[in-house]
Amino acid sequence: KESQEREKDKADRATSDQVLDQRTRMILYQIINRGVVSEVHGAISTGKEANVYGAVAYPDTDGPPVQRAIKVYKTAILSFKDRERYITGEHRFKSGADKGNSRKMVKLWAEKEFRNLRRIYAAGIACPEPIQLKLHVLVMGFLGDKKGWAYPRLRDANLPAEEADKIWRHLYIQLLGIMRRMYQVCRLVHADLSEYNILYNKNQLYIIDVSQSVEHDHPRSLEFLRMDIKNTGDFFRRQGVDTLLDRTVYDFITSSEGPVEEPALSEAIEQLYASRSAAASDETAVAQQEVDNEVFRNQYIPQTLEQVYDIEKEAQKIGEGEGNQLVYRNLLADKVVLPDKAGEEQSSDSQSDDGAALDSDEDSD
Ligand code: ADP
Ligand code: MG
Repeated sequence: KESQEREKDKADRATSDQVLDQRTRMILYQIINRGVVSEVHGAISTGKEANVYGAVAYPDTDGPPVQRAIKVYKTAILSFKDRERYITGEHRFKSGADKGNSRKMVKLWAEKEFRNLRRIYAAGIACPEPIQLKLHVLVMGFLGDKKGWAYPRLRDANLPAEEADKIWRHLYIQLLGIMRRMYQVCRLVHADLSEYNILYNKNQLYIIDVSQSVEHDHPRSLEFLRMDIKNTGDFFRRQGVDTLLDRTVYDFITSSEGPVEEPALSEAIEQLYASRSAAASDETAVAQQEVDNEVFRNQYIPQTLEQVYDIEKEAQKIGEGEGNQLVYRNLLADKVVLPDKAGEEQSSDSQSDDGAALDSDEDSD
């Protein structure tokens, strides 16, 4: 029978995974004892930095079983070294990262993913529901069907041929809205956004893999945002979508004025298309678009008012003040305080208390 085959397949995958270390198994037992999940299945994904496992929880009541996903960060890795740039300058991680202690590092990344997920989920953006965090193990909602098959990544999405063009464009516009909402409401830049970290189902995009996402005021957030815009724009262009200029998208996302909710977000994007076609004749448009994107990608993005003044002073000194192309974000309108921030820090502190017993073990890495 089909389901038997699948069980066998799952078991095979589980055994071909590298064996979980003792510490991780202890955490999984605790999670099972608390009823957060009842069974842990085989790996959905084995990555360089983390494995993701499928899991099932049987509710107390007679309700149907609930699918969960468990992301386990790997401790024995060097690849976290190049993640330093995301943490340095992040005020939520003022103490920085202790690169010598990989156990602390993975705990930090899991914590970061959990917090970011909470913020994104609270903003009503489609993403896995954050359920529980324990050291380097994160339990979240499962994005997939009732049978336990995860939704495909956007890169593997199988769109019906007759409607593909229409859907790709719809998804592009949906994603720009998500990016703006994430920036304006969650005050986060994803920083690794691509067709690999977006899942797709029924005209809906789901944002995943947010451990490296940074605050909007991180010293390099705008650089990361520009990279996200390039990577996602490149992907949708390859699907034949008529995309907006990187700079137009960037301004759309960072401008403090404008809507932050659907359907107004999509309408605002349609407006951008409308004003674009009014301005440019399509003969030159394609070539010009490439040039514009190239220029934008190489521009310096000042992140603070001091940097703006410094650059203008420098430019005046050299005498090329008029031609300098700077990308400004809305630097003055940026003093928004998130009402939920204080609460968030508090509740996540109590979260990590809960792992204190395991956490106090000496690190043997
Ligand atoms: P990595 O750091 O390894 O890239 P990701 O968070 O991107 O980790 O997850 C890896 C893969 O696991 C995803 O591409 C997706 O296929 C699957 N996955 C991750 N989270 C979930 C989830 N909540 N539900 C279903 N599948 C998931
Ligand atoms: Mg990923």
